[in-house]
Amino acid sequence: MQNNSIKQNVLVINCGSSSVKFSLINPTTGNTMLNAIAERLNSPQAILKITLLNSGSVENKQFTEQFIESPNSHKKAIELLVEFLKQKHLISQIQAIGHRVVHGGEIYCQPTLITNNVVDNIDKLSQLAPLHNPANVIGIKAARLAFKSLPQFAVFDTAFHQSMPEKAYLYGIPYKLYQENGIRRYGFHGTSHYYVANTTAELINKPLNECNFISAHLGNGCSVTAIKNGKSVDTSMGFTPLEGVMMGTRSGDIDPGIIFYLVEQLNYTIEQVNKLLNKKSGLLGLSGISNDCRTLEYAMLEKGDKQAELALNIFCYRIAKAIASFSASLQSIDGLIFTGGIGENSSYVRSNILAHLTLLNFSIDQEKNLQIKGGKSGSISKSNSCSCWVIPTNEEWVIAKQSHQLLIEQNITAINQIQ
Ligand code: ADP
Repeated sequence: MQNNSIKQNVLVINCGSSSVKFSLINPTTGNTMLNAIAERLNSPQAILKITLLNSGSVENKQFTEQFIESPNSHKKAIELLVEFLKQKHLISQIQAIGHRVVHGGEIYCQPTLITNNVVDNIDKLSQLAPLHNPANVIGIKAARLAFKSLPQFAVFDTAFHQSMPEKAYLYGIPYKLYQENGIRRYGFHGTSHYYVANTTAELINKPLNECNFISAHLGNGCSVTAIKNGKSVDTSMGFTPLEGVMMGTRSGDIDPGIIFYLVEQLNYTIEQVNKLLNKKSGLLGLSGISNDCRTLEYAMLEKGDKQAELALNIFCYRIAKAIASFSASLQSIDGLIFTGGIGENSSYVRSNILAHLTLLNFSIDQEKNLQIKGGKSGSISKSNSCSCWVIPTNEEWVIAKQSHQLLIEQNITAINQIQ
């Protein structure tokens, strides 16, 4: 008989097109025992970096790192991690695997136990997320081979936004394109928006289902979400993660007419347009320097670089406009929440965004704003203004928690029978 008492952790797997991230997390406490990242997969520079953390507070964690060369595929990276987990006697502590899956379409609005049928559905949804779902499927298949006796769950980035009403998710294009081809707004970063809303609800001591928030996830990808009574009612990303606010390398909203102009008048191929809007635009395209907010802030503040300043200003203005637009979705607001690498760390970006939102009664406390970075959370608003929070996101913990919850609810023990 297995000793279930020590099987208390969930291994979270996040497969990208050329990387896999792993976290071994206690779903109840959120304590992370291990983080690993395999990068530049399928290239000679591929590397797997494993960081083993001791228990203790996040700031004081001691860690040991190990580098493993050449995990030349997702499958190999997972196999190498399994080998490492065996060596460290950690395998026996894993109760389940939780996979981050980008697109669940309209099929999945909840975390789901992975069966053969679910893998097929995620694979079919690749046509809606050609850059992401195929990598997720590769990761799931490899993990099912490597961890044959463990239940595995899929947690979808789109799921949180399945509560949006039709008026928010439909585009003003012929309805049959939605009916026959599924062209609608799906939204992304759902796990992150859910996590920060839930955490802020706890901080203000109010049940999540009575809370109205606007959350801004600002990382390399950026999205803003309106949350009413704890549920997503609108979000800036759409059919793909290209829509919405400007991002690191993505343009966000542009006049679709620009695409015709690029193709018909400037002889761009569709592939070139795709690359231009997804990889060469946003902060990178406007600054001509970098997609990295830190680099741009440095260039602007230390070198007086005007292009960097312009790029950051446009970035902030567009985010402020997206936030203001959600006053159409909410009658009241309990708080605006910043998260993601930029939202959590850049006092400049937060201050610039809020300076555009005085009409909505946002007013920043500059002192508090300057203090919050590097994983800290807290309020950055003046006491007489609309409240504004910085909350470090933790998508891995949500995936671990939701996988654990399903495991308990569905009383899953005999996993070998799950097809
Ligand atoms: P991803 O979307 O890839 O998960 P992150 O959430 O890690 O990305 O966010 C990456 C962004 O966060 C980069 O633009 C980076 O410059 C920015 N960032 C990280 N730390 C800081 C900081 N201290 N100040 C300003 N920007 C920061």
